[in-house]
Amino acid sequence: MAQLSDDCFAFGGPLLPVDEALTMLADRLEPADGVESVPLTGLDGRVLAKDMAAPMPLPPFTNSAVDGYALDGAAIPMKDGAIFTVAGRVQAGASADITAAAGETVRVFTGAPMPAGMDTVFMQEDVRVKGDGRVVLPPGLRRGANVRPAGEDVEAGQVVLEAGHRMRPQDVALAAALGFTRVEVRRRIRVAVVSTGNEIVAPGMPRGPAQLFDSNRFMLVSMLTRLGCTVEDLDILRDDRNATASVLAKAAAGNDLILASGGVSTGEADFVKAAVESVGSLVFWRLGIKPGRPVAMGVIGGTPFIGLPGNPVASFVTFTHIARPAIFALSGTPFQPPVAVPLRAAFSYKKKAGRREYVRVSLQRAAGGALEAVKFPREGAGLLSSLVETDGLVELGEEVTAVQPGQMVAFLPYSTLL
Ligand code: AMP
Ligand code: MG
Repeated sequence: MAQLSDDCFAFGGPLLPVDEALTMLADRLEPADGVESVPLTGLDGRVLAKDMAAPMPLPPFTNSAVDGYALDGAAIPMKDGAIFTVAGRVQAGASADITAAAGETVRVFTGAPMPAGMDTVFMQEDVRVKGDGRVVLPPGLRRGANVRPAGEDVEAGQVVLEAGHRMRPQDVALAAALGFTRVEVRRRIRVAVVSTGNEIVAPGMPRGPAQLFDSNRFMLVSMLTRLGCTVEDLDILRDDRNATASVLAKAAAGNDLILASGGVSTGEADFVKAAVESVGSLVFWRLGIKPGRPVAMGVIGGTPFIGLPGNPVASFVTFTHIARPAIFALSGTPFQPPVAVPLRAAFSYKKKAGRREYVRVSLQRAAGGALEAVKFPREGAGLLSSLVETDGLVELGEEVTAVQPGQMVAFLPYSTLL
């Protein structure tokens, strides 16, 4: 079968495997310098500049896990009908300096500090209160039950989060619980984003009959923002090598990464590679990935450059698999490849060996109740609806040549890629 002359697969030389590209990126990209101190309310998504060690234990004091009656574990009754006098009550936030005699219990509430000498709490649901106010405690409770000992969650001095960790809401909660008000994080990396192509116009501008509104730039800006980057929007470049070269060279000065879409294939109007080579150098530009293929990585004035393909689906897939790991490296956070969920394929598929493919799929509940992956019916790399209407990507490794219905495949939900 004849191949199109502008298909970069038709040009000799092997395609660079995705894993090799990732290794090259990891080897070449250093975290950007600079730290800043941010308040808890601005901490989500930021990358810790140093290890976080606990200045205090959690919980800070031993307390009751339930509403109930506290007791010295040595006095737990062995048989039914044991009656105890209630020596006092301790509410959450109150002090617990009650002295109870042997045979006495203390009414406590969830979060209340434990009275001295007491280490066990009976849940109020298990306790019968007699008419005279004394209580009947059931036998056989385990000593230490329903109590949260100081330090059971976190010990003082423990490193709870390591440098390079990207903060999530639960991590912010931990920092707050430990009493931090501000935390040292790495500065946000600055990424310049540009679209290319004479056929591309910005939404809101007059659109010629053969023109498309720019969608890639807004998708890329959205993904970069989610990754905590500061974005410099360079708008749209015409298909012109010199103009492209001068904009890229200028952008290199103030940014940690330049991200372009379009113009990296081998068509006559694909000037981006040539522009990069005129002001810097190319590291690679042909990847074994579909959708994707032409993905250029280069260096301009010491600043990394990544050129994604113009087709929106190819741009999306290569951003999530190439640009995102690069951004992690520049942000100083270790990149963990997304964990794929094993899922049954409800489709058949054929592919070439030697490249990695990503199939857009929706989740569907099969007859037995298990989830299965249903392939989007069309394959075009320009179909934005194929990304909007699906739930994630099935990753088919380099060695795979076919998928049969019922076969287990690796599903990557969009939530793990963004
Ligand atoms: P290219 O990689 O420059 O050859 O572009 C491939 C295809 O992607 C073109 O036919 C355009 O329709 C489309 N494309 C390129 N850039 C964009 C963009 N910024 N937004 C939407 N579509 C684009
Ligand atoms: Mg183009």
